[in-house]
Amino acid sequence: MSFLSLLLLIAAAILLQIFVYVSIEFWRLWQTYEALRNGSISSEIVLNPEASLKVTQLAPSAWIGNRTFTVERKEHEDALAQVCSFYLVPEDHKPLPPFFPGQFLTFQLEGMSAIKGAKPVIRCYSLSDAPHLNRYRISVKRAPAPLGKEVSPGLASNYLHDVVEVGSSLQVRAPAGHFFLDRSEGPVVLIGGGIGITPMLSMLNWSLSSQNNREIWLFYGVRNPSELVMLQHLETLATAHPNFHVHICLSDLNSEGFIGPRSQWIQYHQGQVDIGLLRSLLPLKPYHYYVCGPTPMLQSLVPALEDWGVADSRIHFESFGPASVSRKNHAMATQGAAQTKHDSQPVVVTFANSGKKADWEPGMGSLLELAESLGIAIDSGCRSGSCGTCQTIIRSGAVAYSTAPIIDPEAGSCLLCVATPQTSVTLEL
Ligand SMILES: Cc1cc2nc3c(=O)[nH]c(=O)nc-3n(C[C@H](O)[C@H](O)[C@H](O)COP(=O)(O)OP(=O)(O)OC[C@H]3O[C@@H](n4cnc5c(N)ncnc54)[C@H](O)[C@@H]3O)c2cc1C
Repeated sequence: MSFLSLLLLIAAAILLQIFVYVSIEFWRLWQTYEALRNGSISSEIVLNPEASLKVTQLAPSAWIGNRTFTVERKEHEDALAQVCSFYLVPEDHKPLPPFFPGQFLTFQLEGMSAIKGAKPVIRCYSLSDAPHLNRYRISVKRAPAPLGKEVSPGLASNYLHDVVEVGSSLQVRAPAGHFFLDRSEGPVVLIGGGIGITPMLSMLNWSLSSQNNREIWLFYGVRNPSELVMLQHLETLATAHPNFHVHICLSDLNSEGFIGPRSQWIQYHQGQVDIGLLRSLLPLKPYHYYVCGPTPMLQSLVPALEDWGVADSRIHFESFGPASVSRKNHAMATQGAAQTKHDSQPVVVTFANSGKKADWEPGMGSLLELAESLGIAIDSGCRSGSCGTCQTIIRSGAVAYSTAPIIDPEAGSCLLCVATPQTSVTLEL
């Protein structure tokens, strides 16, 4: 081969490489453009990669404020009809933005109060299915009155069960929340206690239909078999996906007859989901753990996972109600907030209208938890800084946020559910 033809060959190879590179880049940009055009990703994320860090808790391309949805279908999901799924379609029939599996919707239930002019009841409900283009699903458990107490049963859940019918309209805020499944293909352990199964259903439905054989373990704790939700669905998924392992824990002693191999796909255990069970069943792998359930479950499992050596960044949890889970690292994080201004003096929180005050210390949780521990009645919805129900005026002092609120509180106010005091603070409440 002559020197000239060698030179030509090298030039052709370089040109080919440039062509391939430009084509790939063009294809990538075209995909992004198409996604933006279809509204399936936020332009803020694409145009400003830094922004993606800030907006990961928001559903991509979500709407602002309330949107009207119509109930398309209602379906009971358990033997005793205590859990009902609501399939919701937008009244405007426009495509729905996707959400991150594990996120929730916020409902503003107007017209459910017998008292005219009373404030609407605001409640959050986790999305219980994988994202769909034209409908969302939530699954709501009736909240009965606590045993032995002369109080009314849960307002919103019973209203949804008894009054809201197919064709009813509901005011709904966009999907939000910090608790959602990561998009990697890494192995995960999902732990749901009682109605805490709902975000897990969304996560596993999405992962099993969209990801490539990701290893998923589901530990589902209930008191007895009658409380199991969507058992048939779980069995169908476990049958179809060898990478999906289902373990059901029944804590009532009289469930004993149920223990044992009921099907080859689901294994049943007597007792609660506890660290002993996880340690005995899980192979040694770097799992991410997602836990949602009643307060005692979170308060025992989260520290137990930490003690087992699971990294803080691999433990994700959500509570549907007041729950203070003391985390080693969380305590250290909130410590920083108080220490900025008060290295030696105590941080005093005063609730002006209630006439109550208390010292706050790092590790004690949010201002909402502090108020509740003092018996101050506060309306709250999401407990994650997204619904705005607990917004309160700050009369003096300053607060910090251990978790950044998803909505901006009005100037001079704070969201108690995610706020901790930065200095001694006086709140309007
Ligand atoms: C992020 C998030 C996601 C959620 N996802 C789901 C979900 O997927 N499914 C679901 O079912 N729930 C979910 N919840 C819980 C839901 O938001 C409601 O808290 C739940 O439905 C109860 O609301 P309620 O209005 O029916 O009960 P409430 O009216 O809030 O009452 C709660 C309980 O307190 C009792 N009570 C009332 N008055 C008193 C009193 N004076 N003293 C003592 N007790 C009293 C009631 O009888 C009832 O048992 C979620 C919550 C959050 C924060």
